[in-house]
Amino acid sequence: MKYCSVCATPVEHSVPAGDNLPRYHCPACGTIHYQNPRVITGTLPVLDGRILLCKRNIEPRWGYWTLPGGFMENGETVAEGAARETWEEARNAPELRQMLSVISLPQFDQVHIFYLADMVSPDFSTTEESSEVALFEPDAIPWDDIAFRTVLATLRHYVDHLGPDGRAPARLPLLDTTIIPRLRD
Ligand SMILES: [Zn+2]
Repeated sequence: MKYCSVCATPVEHSVPAGDNLPRYHCPACGTIHYQNPRVITGTLPVLDGRILLCKRNIEPRWGYWTLPGGFMENGETVAEGAARETWEEARNAPELRQMLSVISLPQFDQVHIFYLADMVSPDFSTTEESSEVALFEPDAIPWDDIAFRTVLATLRHYVDHLGPDGRAPARLPLLDTTIIPRLRD
């Protein structure tokens, strides 16, 4: 950040009085421009034991499979954002059952949150963001072609809790974890 978004004066970067972290702040109008983590919210939609995945038609990770999800918008709840992203990426409006994972990515200043969701309609389709949308049996998930480690962790958490009949229990534990990328990731 170079200029104040309120008054266009060049900003300074230092610890403001009464604060404990350096911030961009404006010497003219006094505005402090806080920068905080962003929330990515999405769903793990299930229909008859099969999981809905989307093949990304956009960068990053073009051509890899992901769960529907994206950046939360101002003015919506986490759940509303998850449902909206599912519609935008897969044209399905599932019923959110429970929060399934909350994953902190401190190196990327992000938090990823996924809901387990029941597909009340079997209808879905490709979108501008998804070149393919498909249902996968748990033993057919393309593990080597998953776009993001948070999606991988969420899928793994879900599959690890399936019963011998391949069905999820009435309630799954919440995956509450942190992903720190290794050097070569
Ligand atoms: Zn200003």
